Amino acid sequence: MCGIVGIYNHPEAAKLAYLGLYALQHRGQESAGIVTANGQKLVAHTQMGLVADIFTEEVLDRLPGSMAIGHVRYSTTGESVLRNCQPFTINYSRGSLSVAHNGNIVNAGRLRAEFEAHGAIFQSTIDTEVILHMLADSKKRDLVDRLVEILPQIKGAYSLVFLTESRLIAARDPYGFRPLVLGKKDDSFVVASETCALDLLEAKFIREIEPGEIVVFDKSGMKSLKPFGPQKRAHCIFEYVYFARPDSIAFNRNVYEIRKGFGQMLAKEAPVQADMIVPVPDSGVPAAIGYSEESGIPFQMALVRNHYVGRTFIEPEQAIRHFGVRVKLNAVKQMLEGKKVILIDDSIVRGTTSRKIVKIVRDAGAKEVHLRISAPPTTWPCFYGIDTPRREELIAAKQDVESIRKYVTADTLAYLSTQSLYWFEKQKPGEWFCDACFTGNYPVGADEIRHTIRSETGTLLTARLH
Ligand code: AMP
Repeated sequence: MCGIVGIYNHPEAAKLAYLGLYALQHRGQESAGIVTANGQKLVAHTQMGLVADIFTEEVLDRLPGSMAIGHVRYSTTGESVLRNCQPFTINYSRGSLSVAHNGNIVNAGRLRAEFEAHGAIFQSTIDTEVILHMLADSKKRDLVDRLVEILPQIKGAYSLVFLTESRLIAARDPYGFRPLVLGKKDDSFVVASETCALDLLEAKFIREIEPGEIVVFDKSGMKSLKPFGPQKRAHCIFEYVYFARPDSIAFNRNVYEIRKGFGQMLAKEAPVQADMIVPVPDSGVPAAIGYSEESGIPFQMALVRNHYVGRTFIEPEQAIRHFGVRVKLNAVKQMLEGKKVILIDDSIVRGTTSRKIVKIVRDAGAKEVHLRISAPPTTWPCFYGIDTPRREELIAAKQDVESIRKYVTADTLAYLSTQSLYWFEKQKPGEWFCDACFTGNYPVGADEIRHTIRSETGTLLTARLH
């Protein structure tokens, strides 16, 4: 879970990168960084915290040049510490090189072990650093040739932006797991994880960086390479379910429309008599609107979110029950009193939050609480960059829908079917997507993944792993 941005040929490259990261803050809140280049050198600033807190006017003024890359991070591999922040910068035989990565490399552990066996010293615990070691180790002369040589050895999900003293390079893995888009603002190019970043910069959305594509920006303009041949695609369906911003275009479709469709399908698949539809904000809102439109049952924002809650808060000494959820969400009691409620959320991961939210709605006086989830049960962990817990912690990996219902104390519970998830694809539904979190079908690195899951969980939980 990360967001990346790249700016080429703009006098205020650092400021544009900052604004791009601002729009991508939902993709990671642990740390942020910007590296700029002015033709001679790279200058970096990375820090723990939120984009708006890190990048003051003063910090941005110290980032010179017309090229920049940026990163917001929510750790999926490696601890949450400063030395793991990105962009990651090195000096090697051919100059300076910086990289920002969104995704997760499945075989990073093995690749790293091979380097370490030959004496390499790693500075961080993130999988991205291995890419830099491979690039520095390659015998090819040009950086782009080095990339073409090493990328086929990397298994997993990567949307990448690289920066040297004079070039910006964007690359996306052949499966296209994570989104990456290309935009143009006058004579400048912008690369970003999502189009919401282009919108803020008033950059025109040109197209996606294609799966398997490498795009080079330098003084001769923009050059595209597709050295890897056609490949089966595996766009992350969870970007549509939860992760991407609803105002973005991801994988060439608007996320809001897709989510609303999930809600419409859910209303068809799992109808129930009720007085109102209530979303769990913000993630459940578009699906709840879809459910409401399809069922004709009114939509009410009877749960209100506090948008200013940071990652940590000081709890009172006298424990307040369910404080963590309560500080984020509160119920409008006057709306819920005596009512039959359909509560809509996008996913149940461990089940703990959902259980607390159902309780909040009941405590507010709801007579019935029907929980509807606008995606199938999350039964397998993600190894391609979405932060999910180990398999044994996923409630749907161990329990069926009825026992999950009991656990979250809902009157009824229903999930969206895998078939309806692909309502937007009439031909070959799901063919272009990775839905491993719902199905256990891991499109790449299945051997490594199988090994990890087996070593983490008991045989019962690996039984369906193919
Ligand atoms: P829980 O009931 O504890 O499993 O939490 C479910 C909530 O977590 C839902 O509201 C989801 O929107 C949200 N959620 C789903 N996936 C993730 C994720 N990878 N990181 C953080 N929150 C998530």
